[in-house]
Amino acid sequence: MSTIGVTGATGGLGQHVVEALLRDVPASQIVAFARDVAKAAPLAERGVSVRHADYEQPHSLAGAFEGVDRLLLISGNDLTGRRFAQHRAVIDAAAAAGVSRLVYTSVLGAGTTSNPVAPDHVATEEYLASSGVPHAVLRNGWYSENYLPTLQSAPVSGEILTNAGAGRVASASRADFGEAAAAVLTATEVQRIYELSGDVAWSQQDLADAVSDVTGTEVKVHEVSAEEHVRLLEGVGLDAGTAGFVTAIDSAIAQGGLAQVTGELSGLIGRPTTPLVETLRAGV
Ligand code: NDP
Repeated sequence: MSTIGVTGATGGLGQHVVEALLRDVPASQIVAFARDVAKAAPLAERGVSVRHADYEQPHSLAGAFEGVDRLLLISGNDLTGRRFAQHRAVIDAAAAAGVSRLVYTSVLGAGTTSNPVAPDHVATEEYLASSGVPHAVLRNGWYSENYLPTLQSAPVSGEILTNAGAGRVASASRADFGEAAAAVLTATEVQRIYELSGDVAWSQQDLADAVSDVTGTEVKVHEVSAEEHVRLLEGVGLDAGTAGFVTAIDSAIAQGGLAQVTGELSGLIGRPTTPLVETLRAGV
């Protein structure tokens, strides 16, 4: 049986992947990679092997993947321009170790979306394609958990401030995406690319309704232009980079970049994806 490794195993998604794997695979065949191994101690206590791997330190990757047959590379969370170089270092180390299936978490519609996170993913997908390592790409849509902070902010302001317009978001829970990754890691045959999204593409009004429902406070949608959104966000103290990033994501949503309902996620996990309101309710 294969040995399965998961990088970023201590992160939000990684923890769900390992949990899903543990339902089907003996702990002794799972390797959790972490840049801070102390954070992975609870996994070690359950019999999962824990190894150090820091995307930013290629020497920590050399040899780290020895004996690993299938590896999930969870994309890093660096937003300072280092992500592609980090992913490249992991792919190089995986190739040197002879990994037989590398699974990478990309973004829904990579290559066509204007989502500001896409360029690093596109570069990584291209590098992976040229690496010679057998691989599968999980183009993940938005996590519903991205909207948990709205449960705090919207009831105070009474509104959801957005420049997403009529754009919809086919989000799903991290647990859904985690289960899908585990399914692709353990499957006999895999597709080259999966476009993964929730079963329902919701509008900003649907989000406001869900937040109102969960918090018991009525919340309205406040639609603004991208320029106005940046101005208002900077006005409440966000730096220009963060305000621009948040607004660019809404603009990508406005253009339909996260609206695609493909059915591939529910297909992989064998059940409907988790509704937005359920994830919000669980996060209160
Ligand atoms: P998290 O930020 O919770 O986890 C990211 C994981 O990557 C953490 O385990 C982190 O380690 C690890 N990591 C970051 N940098 C390095 C590094 N240099 N070396 C080794 N490990 C590193 O994000 P999620 O798990 O929620 O999401 C996974 C990825 O998906 C994100 O990193 C990002 O690329 C992308 N993403 C997707 C979103 C979506 O809605 N689809 C939303 C946000 C991000 P540590 O535990 O030590 O911090």
